[in-house]
Amino acid sequence: MNFFHNLRADLKNRQFAVIGLGRFGRAVAATLYQQGYDVLCVDSDNAKVDQVLSDRIAAHARQLDSTQPTALREAGIFEQDTVIVAIGNYVQESIITTLNVKEGGVRHVVAKASSEIHMKLLLKVGADHVVFPEHETGCALARSLTKPGILDRFELDPEHSIVEVIIPEHFAGKTIAELRLRSNYGLNVLAVSQDGKFEINPSPSKQLEKGAAIVVIGSNTCINRLPI
Ligand code: ATP
Repeated sequence: MNFFHNLRADLKNRQFAVIGLGRFGRAVAATLYQQGYDVLCVDSDNAKVDQVLSDRIAAHARQLDSTQPTALREAGIFEQDTVIVAIGNYVQESIITTLNVKEGGVRHVVAKASSEIHMKLLLKVGADHVVFPEHETGCALARSLTKPGILDRFELDPEHSIVEVIIPEHFAGKTIAELRLRSNYGLNVLAVSQDGKFEINPSPSKQLEKGAAIVVIGSNTCINRLPI
């Protein structure tokens, strides 16, 4: 068995818990479950717990108050590899739950914020990753409206991204070497895609055809300088 096989097996065995079964929490749980992961769902509202089980979006669901460390321990939340705290609208409960889960020893805790200050507080009590979906979706929408040439974006950190962009018209017919993307734009080309097929690590002599897309890595400032 090779390294990648072991890594995949390890990933597959990862266990998740989702605390809070609003629209966001349900979406996370359902997607993990559909992908074959073991998901434990909890909520203080019995009706939400029953709904998750009857909709078959998780194998296990429990009713509990996540502000109570004992309840979390008894439900086995502290043994999970990743816990998603999906309580956006109840800031106090969300903060206490995140603190409890971190103090319980969970290695990877992802929490949902509903405001900037909520985000800061979650990080202060130890959340490893905070998502702020309304803010992130709003930013992504604005970017897609102003830069329609960007097909996809993966943010590495607040300053750097990997983006897939449709090549500007005047790039067509030129090779990657001729475009000198590294020196002219500070960007490295990771792949070229044409008709949905990707060529990874393209050679500098690769000629870009009209309608092709390139996947580049670089700072957001450099990406914004692309003439797209
Ligand atoms: P949306 O539905 O828009 O995605 P959301 O993800 O922000 O909203 P909330 O309205 O914050 O969801 O509610 C999340 C869930 O968290 C609710 O179902 C609520 O019952 C549950 N919840 C709130 N407090 C606790 C708590 N102390 N313990 C367990 N569950 C809780």
